[in-house]
Amino acid sequence: MKAIRNVGSYLFGPGALGRLEEVLRGDSRVPAGPVVYLVDHFFAGFRAPLDKLPQRAQDRLVFIDTTHEPSTGQVDQMAASVRQELGGLPGVIVGMGGGATLDMAKAVSNLLTNGGQASDYQGWDLVRVPGVYKIGVPTLSGTGSETSRTCVLTNYETGVKLGMNSDFSVFDQLILDPELTATVPREQYFHTGLDTYFHCMETLNGRTRNGIVDAYSEKAIDLCRQVFLQGDMQDQQSRENMMIASLMGGAAAGNTGLVHPLSAGLSVVLGTHHGLANCLAMGPLAEFYPAEHAEFLAMARAQGISLPSGLGASLSDEQIEKLYASSIVHAKPLANHLGEGFRDILTPARMAALFRAM
Ligand code: ZN
Repeated sequence: MKAIRNVGSYLFGPGALGRLEEVLRGDSRVPAGPVVYLVDHFFAGFRAPLDKLPQRAQDRLVFIDTTHEPSTGQVDQMAASVRQELGGLPGVIVGMGGGATLDMAKAVSNLLTNGGQASDYQGWDLVRVPGVYKIGVPTLSGTGSETSRTCVLTNYETGVKLGMNSDFSVFDQLILDPELTATVPREQYFHTGLDTYFHCMETLNGRTRNGIVDAYSEKAIDLCRQVFLQGDMQDQQSRENMMIASLMGGAAAGNTGLVHPLSAGLSVVLGTHHGLANCLAMGPLAEFYPAEHAEFLAMARAQGISLPSGLGASLSDEQIEKLYASSIVHAKPLANHLGEGFRDILTPARMAALFRAM
C-alpha cells in the first residue's frame, strides 16, 4: 500500500486560461521569479491562446517540438538552455500542450533542481527534491499526463522508454480550459481521447486492483462513452467531459494490461505516437477484450474515424522480432492481465501473429 499524491489545485471551465495571471500573481503558494512557458509548437502557427499568457519582460516562452515524443536528450538540452538564459532557476514553469509537452515540463522542472541528467531519474522514486513549481495547461485530453505522477521519456542511446515516476512529477496546479481542445484535429482528438478509455478498461480487467483506482476508472469510462457514443465528440459538452475523463484516468493511473505493452513496442520500434499506437494495438485484441473491442469499434464508427489497417503486412521479420522484444519486457502489465505465466501465452509466434494482424 502506498500513499497517493494528487495535483494541488485545479481551475476548470471554459475561459479558465484567462485566469492564469491571477494564479501567477495572486496566489501566495506560487513563487515569484521569472516564468518559463513551455508551449507545444502547434501553437506557433495558431497564436490566439498565446495572447492570453500574461508574459512579462523577465519571462520566457519556448516552443517544444513534439514531432517525436520527448527524449532524455531533449530534456537535458532544455534544462541547460533555461538555466543559461535566466542565469539561474525560474520561479515557475508553465507547460501548455498535449501529453508530450506536459511531460517535458515535468521533466525539465525536476531536472533543474535535482541536477545531473534526465536519464538518472528514469525509474521509480529516483527524483530527490521537489522540482521548480509547475502549472499544467492541457490542450489535448486523454493521456492523463496532467494528473499522473510520471513523465515518459525515451533514451535513444539505451532504447529505454521509461518515466520519472515520482511524487515530485505531479503538477502543483492545473488550468483546465476546454476551449483549448476545440481546434485539435479530429483523428488526433479521437486517438488521444481513447488513451483514457484504454488505460481504464485495462485497469478494470486486471488482477491487481484498488477500490479508489477502480472508482476513478469506472467514471472515466462512463464519460468516454458519453463523449464518443453520443453526439459529436468535440462539441463543448463533450470537450468538458473528455477533459474530466482524462483527469480521472491520469489520477487513477492503475496498472495497465495488454494494449499498453504492445503500443509501447510500436512507439519504440516504429516511432508511432502513443494514441495511434494504442488504437493499432487494440486491433487484434478482440479475443482478450471482446466487449471493449466492440465498443472501441462502435466509438470510431459513431465519430466517423477510420481506423488504421495494413501495418502488419509491411513489417519485416526483423521488425517483428524487435516488436516482440520491446513489448514482452513490460512484465508488470502483461502479468496483470494474464498472470505470471504470460510468456507461455504470448509466445513469439503468437505475438508475431498479433502484430501481423494490425
Ligand atoms: Zn496511455
